[in-house]
Amino acid sequence: MKKVLIVGGGAGGIILANSLDKKNYDVTILDKSDMQVFQPWFLYMAFEGKNKNISKPTVKLLNKGSKFIKEEVKTIDLDNRSVQTASNTYSYDYLVVATGTVTDTSSIRGLQEINSKFGDYHTNIDNSMRLWSNINSFSGGTLVLGQASPTCKCPPSPLEGILLAEQLLTRKKIKQKSKLVFFTPYPRAYPAEPINKIVEPIMKARGIDIYTFFDVDYIDTQKSSIYSIEGDEIHYDLPIVIPPCVGVKIEYKQDVLDQDRFVKADKYTMRIQGYDDAFAIGDATNIPTSKSGVTAHLQAKVVASIIEGQNVIFNGRTHCPFDMAYGKATFVIGSYTQPVVPYPPSAFKHFMKMMMAKIYWSSLKGTFDFMFDTYFKMTDPEKLNKKYK
Ligand SMILES: Cc1cc2nc3c(=O)[nH]c(=O)nc-3n(C[C@H](O)[C@H](O)[C@H](O)COP(=O)(O)OP(=O)(O)OC[C@H]3O[C@@H](n4cnc5c(N)ncnc54)[C@H](O)[C@@H]3O)c2cc1C
Repeated sequence: MKKVLIVGGGAGGIILANSLDKKNYDVTILDKSDMQVFQPWFLYMAFEGKNKNISKPTVKLLNKGSKFIKEEVKTIDLDNRSVQTASNTYSYDYLVVATGTVTDTSSIRGLQEINSKFGDYHTNIDNSMRLWSNINSFSGGTLVLGQASPTCKCPPSPLEGILLAEQLLTRKKIKQKSKLVFFTPYPRAYPAEPINKIVEPIMKARGIDIYTFFDVDYIDTQKSSIYSIEGDEIHYDLPIVIPPCVGVKIEYKQDVLDQDRFVKADKYTMRIQGYDDAFAIGDATNIPTSKSGVTAHLQAKVVASIIEGQNVIFNGRTHCPFDMAYGKATFVIGSYTQPVVPYPPSAFKHFMKMMMAKIYWSSLKGTFDFMFDTYFKMTDPEKLNKKYK
């Protein structure tokens, strides 16, 4: 029986383990934590104060047959097929790295200080609830939100944050006493033009100022200002800065990491550069597609099929939900060959985003695979681009 070792039992790792046929494969997941967290809900904790239970034990999400070991991986040696934790060494026939990302507040002066004071909605539950307590007690002034580096999980999430913040201030009747500012390192509010054409007019109509090409240089906490490398300054009363997102700290004996510690992998097969028996999926990779649960899901399915001997590839499909506030949402849908679809927001799409939160745990177990396959076919970007061009 071939041994498949999965490092990281998050969305991607669990779906991969559940997709492999345990009659033919001996599947083990190694994870430093034995609890899984539904990260997309950080948004609703931080901007709506909805503190529901979003954690589940990993073993409850694994179908029969996979083993789970709670240990933190320290070193990976791909040439010797060896994975080391503090207490053990594991060998494998196939390795899949699915370790996600971490936020890094150390690389920008002042970021650690404002992050511990004001929180953020990309790190963990505590930070998200800290942000809620700050935004909920905000009584007016300048609310500034942006991403400190171009890479962040779920590309729509920075804009979702500012749109939900605007909705909150309006509902609390303090919008008149407030200024809302969104900054981004990209040349437009949303990096992909077809979605930007939809969202930028909405932001302008809601009175949100947009600063583009804003690469955060440092934050002066005495002056309450964020400075860009280009020399611009944004003053804040309430800063919400999404920290840079980087790969986790694992030592690889081979040169397979980029400058942000993302694993260099083939964008079609997810094979780690130079290795036939090792793969990387989900947020942990440098693959040029969105860092999202949907991507991790689709890549996990492809890697499971490749390990089982099928000749399949990942086509770069993205499908990120985008909450535009006031009960409307859209999806950012595209692929390696299809540009992002200018998909109009609707109440039904918002309902679908909320439904996903309800069925998330079962979706990791494969309960809704048939429904997802049909849905992804129905929302094929080529078809949609013809309809909405
Ligand atoms: C605010 C926000 C909103 C989002 N909204 C959406 C959305 O609407 N739709 C969507 O599809 N996605 C969304 N996402 C993104 C989604 O949550 C992630 O992309 C997804 O969880 C990535 O899955 P993954 O398996 O790659 O990593 P993760 O799920 O993060 O799992 C990584 C696992 O690796 C483990 N690990 C790390 N280091 C080690 C180590 N050294 N040893 C052992 N184990 C280790 C971790 O403990 C963790 O369990 C959102 C994210 C955020 C922050």
